[in-house]
Amino acid sequence: MIAEPALYPWLQTAFDHLDALRRDDRVPGALLIQGAEGLGKRSLALHFAARLLCLEPFNPSPCGVCQGCHLFKAGTHPDLTTLEPEEVGKIIKVDQVRKVIQDLGLMSLYHGYRVIVIDPADQMNQNAANALLKTLEEPAPKNLIILVTHRPHRLLATIRSRCQTLSIARPKKDIALAFIKEKTTISSPERLLSSAEGSPLRALEMAEKGLLGIRDQRFEAFSQVLKGQEDPVAMAQTWAEESPFETLDWVLSWLLDLVRLGLSDEAPALLNEDLGEALKELIKGLDVGELIHYRDAVSGYRAQLETTANRQLIFEAVLIRLSALSPYQRVAQRPKVASI
Ligand SMILES: [Zn+2]
Repeated sequence: MIAEPALYPWLQTAFDHLDALRRDDRVPGALLIQGAEGLGKRSLALHFAARLLCLEPFNPSPCGVCQGCHLFKAGTHPDLTTLEPEEVGKIIKVDQVRKVIQDLGLMSLYHGYRVIVIDPADQMNQNAANALLKTLEEPAPKNLIILVTHRPHRLLATIRSRCQTLSIARPKKDIALAFIKEKTTISSPERLLSSAEGSPLRALEMAEKGLLGIRDQRFEAFSQVLKGQEDPVAMAQTWAEESPFETLDWVLSWLLDLVRLGLSDEAPALLNEDLGEALKELIKGLDVGELIHYRDAVSGYRAQLETTANRQLIFEAVLIRLSALSPYQRVAQRPKVASI
């Protein structure tokens, strides 16, 4: 069942743009909605799908009462298909893509649009992406494929080039904060928003899962390993066992902020505003070139985390290499990096 998708306040402009395309009969055959996690990209895709499938043509939003809207709300509209991995974090298989492409060949039941939402589109494997490519090359009228992703670089360039792209930016801080305050009773909404890198839905998820406290612990450990005050191997076990994905995402964003601080004489805008002072302390004595190399390596480890690779070994490699960046370590012999 598809719940009626909310249109979050910061998505109104993007939706208005899409609805203008609909009214002008200029809806593309493929649309790529990209932007950071936690901005509601999928809900925007579904809200637009709902508007396309609504039978009332002049309403700026889905009317909510026509047959199209009823079927949409019940999750049984025959002209809407959502395609996602069969299990969270896994790939979208070629057979899944072939099935929906086959459905696209059918006539719309209501002589209107047929819509496919693929989310996250970057989880299509090579074969699945190639199968989709053929359809994108020859779009049929009134067929819309919406690809949703926060990692557009992982899509085939040939797929990206055949889509009209809509990039969703983080909302202005006051809009995001007003939303968080309305939805939670958390005492530190500003810090929550900062730790979610400005993404309001990510912030709510963090509040619900109690991730703010875990992030604090991780940053403390990250700092200590970097200062040579904590054993990286012992820490790897904790990181591998609790919130491993979030942990590496946090590490990547701290590293990005450290690089920004290292490269700028001015005060750069940071993703982790709440950690600004602590990060400024940490960057002292660190080599920016080494940090950049290390961040690239951590991106690779983050990708490995989604495979069957041993998590403990991944985090040992992450943390041992982190400890090797320490100004205290630089004079001593570098520790051996675990291979995975
Ligand atoms: Zn309707």
